[in-house]
Amino acid sequence: MRVLVVEDDRALGTFLKSGLEMQGHRVDWVEDGEAALLLAAADHPDLVLLDLGLPKRDGMEVLAEMRARHNDASVLVLTGRSDLHVQVECLDMGADDCLLKPFSFYELTARCRALQRRRVKFADPVLRHGDLELHRMEHTVARAGRTIGLTAKEFSLLEFLMLHRGEAVSRGQLLIEVWQMPAASGTNVVDVYINYLRRKLDGGEAHDAQAELIETVRGMGYRLGGLSCNPAARATGQSCPVHRPAYA
Ligand code: CA
Repeated sequence: MRVLVVEDDRALGTFLKSGLEMQGHRVDWVEDGEAALLLAAADHPDLVLLDLGLPKRDGMEVLAEMRARHNDASVLVLTGRSDLHVQVECLDMGADDCLLKPFSFYELTARCRALQRRRVKFADPVLRHGDLELHRMEHTVARAGRTIGLTAKEFSLLEFLMLHRGEAVSRGQLLIEVWQMPAASGTNVVDVYINYLRRKLDGGEAHDAQAELIETVRGMGYRLGGLSCNPAARATGQSCPVHRPAYA
């Protein structure tokens, strides 16, 4: 996910940025409300972690203005105020969730995942990448019109790769998001399933590493590409110029 952290407490901001980056998210961190509005508009984050007490524009103003501009990023408000009316007001203003400070990082990331699942649920019912089609409601996959039978886990893995098509995703990220396991689980289950998927998607055709739909990004993980990326970009782990999924 692209995450925008809006927090003027430096210790907490640093902690959130590095913790979320270690989980594979792309994180921007700003310390005031004006910068938050600028980045929210320019960068289209998937999720905004929003403190309420901020310099320049407070969190409530940021939230109200984002929603007035039809910014549909998920917003998780981080508040130190335990009074219920503050939390109710945030939700009524368009926040998706509120978390009371101090919070545990585990609870924060669980709530982030829940918000992401909600977004994904309302995203495109059909994902396409070249001649590959994934129907999310019917749980079916076809390549060039040929139906491909996948297990539930293979389907979830391919769905995640398609939602992040063109982006390099780490093994740790896949373990967290697809297997709900810690990133450092010391298992090779991701590589095993990638091989299953490659075999099924390629339909047993001659192995050509350059044309492979699921590319290996050295020292990092995998990327669904194989369409128009040039080999030099692949080797350095650069993202290919493809569109991110459009969330409804
Ligand atoms: Ca604050």
